[in-house]
Amino acid sequence: MLEIVPLILGPVATNTYLIANSDTGEAAVIDPAWDGQLIVAEAKRRNWQISQIWITHAHFDHIGAAGDLARILETPPTIGLHPYDRLLWENQGGAAIFDFTMPASPEPTLNLAHKMELELGGTTFQVLHTPGHTPGHCIFYCAQARVCFCGDLIFQNSVGRTDLPGGDWNVLVKSIRSQIYSLPDETRLLPGHGPETTVGQEKVGNSFVHA
Ligand SMILES: [Zn+2]
Ligand SMILES: [Zn+2]
Repeated sequence: MLEIVPLILGPVATNTYLIANSDTGEAAVIDPAWDGQLIVAEAKRRNWQISQIWITHAHFDHIGAAGDLARILETPPTIGLHPYDRLLWENQGGAAIFDFTMPASPEPTLNLAHKMELELGGTTFQVLHTPGHTPGHCIFYCAQARVCFCGDLIFQNSVGRTDLPGGDWNVLVKSIRSQIYSLPDETRLLPGHGPETTVGQEKVGNSFVHA
């Protein structure tokens, strides 16, 4: 069974998701925002082994603990990032724009691509490339568990900002309509900030992007 532990971490309250197949204990971290020690402690408490890190996009508030995790974990995790966000990753996720400094991040080891499948202890996730907030933004959809980790693409009655470098409003709208609103209505949306919502709820109530 897929288990999901949300952790709110870092200077701008980012949702980090520690997820695992509870039968096998194989775990992944989606957007390790901050506090690598805390994320590892949460996994240890449950006897889960973190083997993968999946990045929705390379803004600093979503990758701040990637370096920590790579250092702390005995076996270096796979780090998946879309190549279009590689430049942002190398620029510390734009931390300087917000007057933050970040420790150096390790190199991503897996180039995410649209419709690529990720495997976590027998549970399959589909990578969907959803540019607009950043050029390499991706979401992780698990049809089996009816859940989608949607980063900063869409929030409860809001959407990701498009005024940062690489952002594009028209592209964001297209990504939401084609990749989010096409999912089954009951799909849970777990965003990078704020509370969870569902596809059905946003199709009806999102004031920024109508279905
Ligand atoms: Zn962002
Ligand atoms: Zn964010």
